[in-house]
Amino acid sequence: MAWLVDLPAVGKTWILIVLVSTLLVSLPASGIEFKHHNYASMTDYLRRLAAKCPNIFRLGSIGKSVQGRQLWVMRVTDHPDIFEPGEPRFKYVGNMHGNEVVGREILLYLLDILCEEYGHNSTLTRLVDTVDIRIMPSLNPDGYERSSPHACGERRGRTNAHNVDLNRNFPDQFLPKSKQPKAEPETKAMMDWIGKEPFVLSGNLHGGSVVASYPFDDSANHQLQGAYSGAPDNEMFKLLAHIYANNHRTMFHGNLCRGDNFPGGITNGAHWYDVPGGMEDYNYLHSNCFEITMELSCCKFPPASQLPTEWLNNREALIAYILAIHRGVKGFVRNRLTNEGIPGAVISVKSINHDVKAAKHGDYWRLLPPGKYLLTAHAKGYDAQSKEVVVTNCTDGVTVDFSLRPLSAKLPSTATLEQPLVYEHHSRGQLRTALEQVIRRCPDITLLHSLGTSVEGRQLWLIEFARQPGVHIPGVPEFKYIGNMHGNEVVGREMLILLAEYLCDNYRTDAQVTKLIDNTRIHLLPTMNPDGYARSHEGDVASVTGRYNAHSVDLNRNFPDHFHPEHSRGPLQKETKLVMQWIRSLPFVLSANLHNGALVANYPFDDHKTNSMAHFAER
Ligand code: ZN
Repeated sequence: MAWLVDLPAVGKTWILIVLVSTLLVSLPASGIEFKHHNYASMTDYLRRLAAKCPNIFRLGSIGKSVQGRQLWVMRVTDHPDIFEPGEPRFKYVGNMHGNEVVGREILLYLLDILCEEYGHNSTLTRLVDTVDIRIMPSLNPDGYERSSPHACGERRGRTNAHNVDLNRNFPDQFLPKSKQPKAEPETKAMMDWIGKEPFVLSGNLHGGSVVASYPFDDSANHQLQGAYSGAPDNEMFKLLAHIYANNHRTMFHGNLCRGDNFPGGITNGAHWYDVPGGMEDYNYLHSNCFEITMELSCCKFPPASQLPTEWLNNREALIAYILAIHRGVKGFVRNRLTNEGIPGAVISVKSINHDVKAAKHGDYWRLLPPGKYLLTAHAKGYDAQSKEVVVTNCTDGVTVDFSLRPLSAKLPSTATLEQPLVYEHHSRGQLRTALEQVIRRCPDITLLHSLGTSVEGRQLWLIEFARQPGVHIPGVPEFKYIGNMHGNEVVGREMLILLAEYLCDNYRTDAQVTKLIDNTRIHLLPTMNPDGYARSHEGDVASVTGRYNAHSVDLNRNFPDHFHPEHSRGPLQKETKLVMQWIRSLPFVLSANLHNGALVANYPFDDHKTNSMAHFAER
């Protein structure tokens, strides 16, 4: 039976650790071969086990070492030929340093008992049934072949066949681009694997000390020792390290090897010593996967006679650490209408700056230590959803599903979304069509109407963006852009059409656009002078053709003038009257009027003689 033990942890929280030891004590020694396995015998061992337990084992390789050895991985799960939605993926990686061999051997023994005990031992059966486990006994088979047996402290065989330390070979967050390591074949294979599979939890087995070491492995200034470099999920990493150390027979003592002083048998990686380019940080920073590093033995390559003891030291810890994958929050993010999973949906936790992404079926796993959290699921094209979640010390974690409302009514079809922007002049009919397409795509936040008609009966189309279009909401400021007041100055007209498309297509997916529309009512009048536009022609750089309205009046000289109200430049034109009515109808706060012919932002007053709209708007 599992039993709970209260252990005082660092900080305020009490961490409860499940010890599984009593479950496994009764296990028979089975047919474990307590000897060292070189590449040939390891390959043979793995093939034999895969053949022995085909119901739960599949042997594969993620690539080859420099010298062409397979990077073997045994997949262990109850349905080894499929991926079960909602089942988390776990990995153990051993022997990344070729001369640190205890991890390699105990992973082979772990496979042995999983094969033997599946269907008999309830803990191991549950483990295989509920986790998709991958066991890689050696990431550095070339180094192993070079290493010296029974050499406790020697470095021979640590590196790969290119003499590169694989645990310094991953891209590093604190190294400049020019100093990033070039990935070795083994590293590259691992990075591809991490990128391809949605791992949740991982353990990286080393030797030379006895301690569980957690991210980050280095710090920004690469201080050699003593610089604590915590990840956003520092508390969870500490819990994971405690789970391994406390379930290990001796690790929690923290002082087993010469010079070791690790309270509780755990340490922050960078605080111990700076390791740039390490694998555990890469997992955390480039995928959903949390990885810690376990140092298993003072002697890196102990005699085979010590292997039974090493196995018993680690056996419960290896199992308990895999079971920790069920902690925290897990569930599915689904489309509320179709109930289909949303792959790639992002799960954020308030106050922890580290998001995870949902896998192929919308399934997600968010490791979290006990506590109260606010989780938010968001995905492009959907409303976000937040839920408060209490994570207890229950080792099965909490299931929380999200059901996101699609914004499909507001979104263009995929075809429209994918369409590149077409940069062309929009004639009268095309302008209307373009704006109509926008309101069809974003009906909830837009309104298309006309201020009225020009002298020649053309509509002054006006598109509006707001959370509640069509009404003035007290406290929500009103903004307007007016383009093409001079009919032959067309850039503003086109910019306003493009802006309308941009606002529509980025609402709810771009934070800035969303905030803007949620807090402002925006009015866009792409053309105030459609009659003039109809007379103008493309390529005309200098003439005034099309500048005026159909009565040959310059609309930007047609507004009542601040200084000389008596100096009217002819009768008020229809277009001018419509804009004046519009300006009076709403408490506009800010406006801009888009012209061409110079590149300048021009502010009031326009002058003291002519009538101008800027004056009027100010008044
Ligand atoms: Zn190592």
